[in-house]
Amino acid sequence: MQRLGFNRTGYSGESIDIHGVLRRIESAALAFGWRWERFTLPQLSHHGTADTLVLHRHVERARAHAYISAGIHGDEPAGPLAMERMIIENRWPADIALTICPCLNRTGFPLNTRENSTGNDLNRDYKHPRTPEVQNHIAWLETQPSFDAAFCLHEDWESHGFYLYELNPDQRPSLARAIVDAVRPVCPIDESAMIDGRETHAPGIIIPQIDPTLRPDWPEAFYLFQKKTRLSYTLEAPSDWPLPIRVNALVAGMRAALATL
Ligand SMILES: [Zn+2]
Repeated sequence: MQRLGFNRTGYSGESIDIHGVLRRIESAALAFGWRWERFTLPQLSHHGTADTLVLHRHVERARAHAYISAGIHGDEPAGPLAMERMIIENRWPADIALTICPCLNRTGFPLNTRENSTGNDLNRDYKHPRTPEVQNHIAWLETQPSFDAAFCLHEDWESHGFYLYELNPDQRPSLARAIVDAVRPVCPIDESAMIDGRETHAPGIIIPQIDPTLRPDWPEAFYLFQKKTRLSYTLEAPSDWPLPIRVNALVAGMRAALATL
């Protein structure tokens, strides 16, 4: 596995046709009997279709209900592609209910930018939301039940391999090692002692000691952790590696997480 060396000051890799990805996700989800809904973003209608797609997989007597989101940063294509692959392959644990937002930043992808089309980082807007995307996402989340676990799929252009963040204040059985062990055969793990300015707990695993109330800008994971779940993972694929490897990493990590949950 070779690193590309493209990314020097930010992500410089390929982008994706997000509308095509979402069309394929939607038709596969419908074929497999998922329920879908959209929250509309009238404030962004001048940017073309900016609706947010949500998919629900209902199962009888679910062992757990997991939430997965992807595509909140428009320069991180592996997340929506991982969701596309998993929904088309349709190999889910039989007793896990799912709620999936496959792309939270619909206007950022055509521009291949982290931010949305008005220049806002949606993943810093969950404390006092100003963007229509996040305002609508939170309004919709407030209508949802709590989740047994939440997963946010990301990429990091600076990292030396895959890594994850875990928020697990109640010391529930951790999924972190199962995720990293499943990713290792398909993608390098970032073995650095410090990643993104934080000390690692084990190779590729960051367990930040944070008090979200002290942080001025909340990412989605902090909102979920405060309001919707007590077990949260942010998976980071290394975006200086080829896109298929990053997609494989997120798919392998998610499959292990759901099997272990
Ligand atoms: Zn990201």
